[in-house]
Amino acid sequence: MQPIKLLSKLTTKTLNLTGTFGGSGQDVIDWRTAAHALAGLPQCQTNWAYFRYVGEETRLNRVIRSLTMHITLFIKIKRYKVKSETLNGIVMAAVYEFVQPVCGECDGSGLAPGQIATNLDALICIKCHGRGRKPVSTRSRCKIIGIGHKSYTDSHDDITKELLRLIAGWESDIFKNIRVKMGEVA
Ligand SMILES: [Zn+2]
Repeated sequence: MQPIKLLSKLTTKTLNLTGTFGGSGQDVIDWRTAAHALAGLPQCQTNWAYFRYVGEETRLNRVIRSLTMHITLFIKIKRYKVKSETLNGIVMAAVYEFVQPVCGECDGSGLAPGQIATNLDALICIKCHGRGRKPVSTRSRCKIIGIGHKSYTDSHDDITKELLRLIAGWESDIFKNIRVKMGEVA
């Protein structure tokens, strides 16, 4: 089973829907199997998995805390100056961006459809700028951050991209863990 499909089954919503519409019984995964699939992951990844896929919104605080901890080091190395309220907003906005649906233009690949691989720049999807998700406008991003849309700087954007990379890394750890625990069950 695809890790993403398995994770989607962890959500109560999906389980309820499956019952309501009489989805195929073989597809339903029990909660113990799900917990087993996530067992052994480090704390940050576990919190993210339960927040994103199990709908445990109370984990958000812990997710924010781990992201802030990791990104603080990055900010130090890059010598960026960011107020802590602003940083908190940037972290929230990055989480918001990460959970957006995949980009309809490139189906989440971040690459422009039908492009010939001659020039790397030409391959980036124009709609999502290579992020692979439905674009979040600077205006709505800044609303979450709590700054004016003209105050969003290149260093803010660099921090955002690093946060998205961090979360993407967690997701890849989660999928790897599930594949191992489930023994690549088809
Ligand atoms: Zn795209």
